[in-house]
Amino acid sequence: MILILKENTDSNGEEYRQLMEYLANLENVEARIHHETGTEKTVTEIYLIGNTSTLQLEEMESFPCVDRAVRVSEEYRILGRHHVDNRTTHFEYNGVRFGQDNLNVFAGLCAVDTPAHVGIMMRALQEHGQTCTRMGAYKPRTNPYSFQGHGKSCLPYVFELAGKYGIRVIAIEVTHDLHIREIREALDLTGQPTGVMLQIGTRNTQNFELLKSAGRQAEFPVLLKRGFGITLEESLNAAEYLASEGNRRVVFGLRGMKTNLGDPHRNFVDFAHIPAVHRLTRMPVCIDPSHSVGSREADADGIMDIFHVTAQGVIAGANMILVDFHPAPSKALVDGPQALHMDELGYFLEDIQIARKAYEQRVQLARGHYDGKDVAG
Ligand code: PEP
Ligand code: MN
Repeated sequence: MILILKENTDSNGEEYRQLMEYLANLENVEARIHHETGTEKTVTEIYLIGNTSTLQLEEMESFPCVDRAVRVSEEYRILGRHHVDNRTTHFEYNGVRFGQDNLNVFAGLCAVDTPAHVGIMMRALQEHGQTCTRMGAYKPRTNPYSFQGHGKSCLPYVFELAGKYGIRVIAIEVTHDLHIREIREALDLTGQPTGVMLQIGTRNTQNFELLKSAGRQAEFPVLLKRGFGITLEESLNAAEYLASEGNRRVVFGLRGMKTNLGDPHRNFVDFAHIPAVHRLTRMPVCIDPSHSVGSREADADGIMDIFHVTAQGVIAGANMILVDFHPAPSKALVDGPQALHMDELGYFLEDIQIARKAYEQRVQLARGHYDGKDVAG
């Protein structure tokens, strides 16, 4: 059960004390408190874990500081959507809004190689009105002899260039909790010119110790990618690990699933799951067309598969797009063949807008058609 307290409830006040005293006396029920501090208000939620079946919602709502009590199912308690649950489906980070109802593009380098390439990428993003990017510093590679990423040594120049070109959020994959510390140190060293979204990659979706570390810190939001060989439910539970440790600023990333060798795409594109993740949870959903498709192959219509699957994701309501670009793909140290070229950035963004407008029209059409009635009914 979740108790959502009235806005700005004073945790030193009498009403709060009364409630906490009551909860402390319940047998086999643990209360976990979570304060969500926004720009205008602080919301406190209390998660009651354990034997809550005998607790009545009305009884809990009779405490003066309790606004609402919500009974949750076992699954995805924090990030899930539950019956009579109108908790938020968005969060803000460093001036950027991440929600189930909006869209951010994170175009950038799969792997940071040189300051010059990082600068070219970020300048182009600024010229196209973009404030987010992806920059891989720690690369989890299949082959131990492949380039492993420049690691912490590249972070200072990446952050300085981000500050210079107005980039507010950089998605950076981490594979160890040490990396989170290194990112924090580099941001401090450079005077916090930008923000970072920690990316947990498909190879680490069920690295529970890493999830716990990223969940315990409150500074950075997390993009958790779906595991490429596990069920959707298992991946959503992995996201719940982050939230259960305290960090619920989580974006869920679809990046394709492993299938047979010889398939046309690097991974089987799974963007049809966007509406399902929206329905099951309150997380914004990211798609990664680059790692799903894995090549610059195009249809006879002249449109690259990467563009096609991006549009398919956006028209189904995707909220974030992580995509590889490179100023000199033949010199890229990782994933050059799937990178889009700098002169394709404007075209790519325009193509996304077509799909996004179509999605918004589809939402209006559905609303008009059902006119507030239950779709399933
Ligand atoms: C990446 O985004 O660079 C990456 C390695 O992705 P994934 O974890 O989806 O393979
Ligand atoms: Mn890559």
